[in-house]
Amino acid sequence: MSAPPPTGLISLGDYVSVIGRAEVDEMRALARRLEGRTIKMVNSTAMGGGVAEILNRLVPLMNDAGVSTRWDVITGGDDFFEITKGFHNALHGAPYEAHEQAFEIFRAYQQQNLANLRFEEDFVVIHDPQPIGLIEARQKPGKAPAGPRNAHWIWRCHIDVSRPHPQVWSFLEKYMKRYDAMIISSPAFTRPLPIAQYLFYPSIDPHSQKNQDLDEDFIAKTLERFGIDSNRRILLQVSRFDRLKDPLGVIQAYKLVRKYTDCQLVLAGGGAKDDPEGGQVLAEVREAAGDDPDIHLLALPPWSALEINALQRAATIIIQKSLQEGFGLTVTEGLWKKKPVVASAVGGIPLQIQHKLTGMLAHSVEGTAFQVRYLLSNPQVAQRLGENGHEHVKENFLVTRNLKRYLMLFLSLSGAAQ
Ligand code: UDP
Repeated sequence: MSAPPPTGLISLGDYVSVIGRAEVDEMRALARRLEGRTIKMVNSTAMGGGVAEILNRLVPLMNDAGVSTRWDVITGGDDFFEITKGFHNALHGAPYEAHEQAFEIFRAYQQQNLANLRFEEDFVVIHDPQPIGLIEARQKPGKAPAGPRNAHWIWRCHIDVSRPHPQVWSFLEKYMKRYDAMIISSPAFTRPLPIAQYLFYPSIDPHSQKNQDLDEDFIAKTLERFGIDSNRRILLQVSRFDRLKDPLGVIQAYKLVRKYTDCQLVLAGGGAKDDPEGGQVLAEVREAAGDDPDIHLLALPPWSALEINALQRAATIIIQKSLQEGFGLTVTEGLWKKKPVVASAVGGIPLQIQHKLTGMLAHSVEGTAFQVRYLLSNPQVAQRLGENGHEHVKENFLVTRNLKRYLMLFLSLSGAAQ
């Protein structure tokens, strides 16, 4: 299945105002050296979650730079996505009971997708474990030809795999070893593998609906629409309703803060096709929120980028109380909007939040509540953290930086780097 085209046209020239002409020219020069080469990106959902968020902006930008790039999305039944969500949690270190039947179902869907997709590009980038088995296309010239160009295959892992479940890891490792290279989001995620490992930071797009500047009027109307009081302070966590995002912990932290000071809590999140646990987690969160009129649970549809943007801009403090996290683009988005962010010191979050410099790190419910209370009582500190955070994102986590890394990797793999 081909992913939907993104909203709005994207051009590399639009980024001159953000990163300067020299950087943009350098990217065009790198792209010229890849002229005629083709790229394919494959993941498991076109909407929802950080990977889709990245590809939705990166793929058009690559095409605009002159490197022909296609984005395909694999398909699967509920049984497949339940298994891959189990793998996802297990790779993040959660307990998991590995059954051969799960591995069988996983293999069967890989075969189904192999039959549906063609691989004729020069570079294939497979994102996360769900489509990892597509590497078999490389070995099956009759059925799904690797193409005449001897493609390079890269596995882009967006998960914190520093302490993976051993059985799930060893099952997936057999596929991983067949790639030319693996890309990870943090130096802490490197693994002993016989393939090259590259560090790429995930990225946000300052021009996307999620991050573009907004009129105050639109922000005010969005708050009104959701019944949020614009005159009182707002704590916000934006996340899929996923246990690893710890929405229940956020509610506990909010309740601790509320003992001392007035504020409202907004938990905003939608689902993703490859995450079947959302409904159940949302029900648990609803129960924990009870009848507190100051807790706003917003179950948003996938086309809510502008609304999420408005909520992030309206927030007094942004929270990301994840128990595990690959990177946490919601943190990046908050920092870009110059917001003080209080987030857990897990996965890729400490790369974004340098404690007391670009935000506040916490390790528990109590720690989160403590940092939130501190920032609510010290608005000048909160403002400074937000400003530093914005600069940190501009320097490291914009889509243009991600594009440059990919161009350089493709050049290096094709031996055309000199
Ligand atoms: N997001 C969204 N709608 C939601 C929840 C999340 O658009 O209801 C976006 C969020 O703004 C961010 C991405 O999905 O861009 C989540 O990425 P992150 O890396 O934080 O977490 P993931 O969901 O990939 O684990």
